Amino acid sequence: MTRRVDLRSDTVTQPTEAMRDAMFRAVVGDDGYNEDPTVRALEERYAEMVGKEAAVFVPSGVMANQIALRILTSPGDLVIAGRAQHVVSFEMGAAARNSSVQFVTVDDTSGTVALRDVLDIIDAEQDHQPHVSMVSLENTHMPSGGTPLDVADITSMASAIGERPLHLDGARLFNAVVATGTTAAQYAAPATTVMTCLSKGLCAPAGSLLAGPSALMERGRIERKRLGGAMRQAGFLAAAGLVALDTMIERLADDHARASTLAHLFATTFPETGFDPSTCRTNIVAFDHPQARQLVSELANLGVEGDTVGPRRARFVTHAGVSDDDVSFVAEVLAQFRPAGG
Ligand SMILES: *Cc1c(COP(=O)(O)O)cnc(C)c1O
Repeated sequence: MTRRVDLRSDTVTQPTEAMRDAMFRAVVGDDGYNEDPTVRALEERYAEMVGKEAAVFVPSGVMANQIALRILTSPGDLVIAGRAQHVVSFEMGAAARNSSVQFVTVDDTSGTVALRDVLDIIDAEQDHQPHVSMVSLENTHMPSGGTPLDVADITSMASAIGERPLHLDGARLFNAVVATGTTAAQYAAPATTVMTCLSKGLCAPAGSLLAGPSALMERGRIERKRLGGAMRQAGFLAAAGLVALDTMIERLADDHARASTLAHLFATTFPETGFDPSTCRTNIVAFDHPQARQLVSELANLGVEGDTVGPRRARFVTHAGVSDDDVSFVAEVLAQFRPAGG
């Protein structure tokens, strides 16, 4: 069998032995009656880590974002977000379907959003343009290459938009924490709501958390029910989530080191892309290439699986299933790689 290194996403990770043990032993109850002690423990643990009053355990990151929109907007409102953010581009139009809101997108090519762009859109309310109900930021910002945000930028955004809520899509918040040394609570402090996926680099089989003020999270529980996301003995999943938060954060540094090695390899192999490997600060290597789809498919045939996240953008993600040996294998493949017809 030919060797295969799966760099498509950190969602392909498998639960650890400790997670499997914890799931096997989990004390569970009907979370619909708020009687699952393991779910409660997970919600409390996350709320404490991000410094919020309460948290809600949900099946997926998409649902966490969708609930945030439901509790922070009214139909017809505008939501300001970076053009490439998950909530805009990778949720199948769910915001329109579920919340009847419209996005006004701003440039986020570098991973950050300019304060000026956001304030201009809010200012246009005075010119008969729709009400802006909230702003969404993504940390780390996936399409730009897992860029960790600067907490000072989040803070200035929050103070500039005043009373309007700020949602932080922290699907990979702990990658940002490990990369920058900023704590999860520091990152979340300027935000009204924050969400994190347990099922990516943290290796839990499923589940995400949304945190914020208690009153909002109570409404979040109702929206979770409406979206069909209220589960019963969900403590089996929460048990794995607790192990994820306890044991899987620090090791993200290994994923970041391997991604950085890969970033240098890709930059050397494809100098025509102008990809700067120093922009890879967490676990995502992403770069523009005119034949990105073809490139990804040819590399997959050689055992190096990546993905595309746009018409000309290739992406390779490190995670707990990728070893140093796998990185050496990728180096060998890239050293010999000659694009077909090129
Ligand atoms: C993966 C991801 C989500 C959605 O999480 P799922 O669990 O796949 O639904 C949301 N935002 C960002 C930035 C993500 O990377």
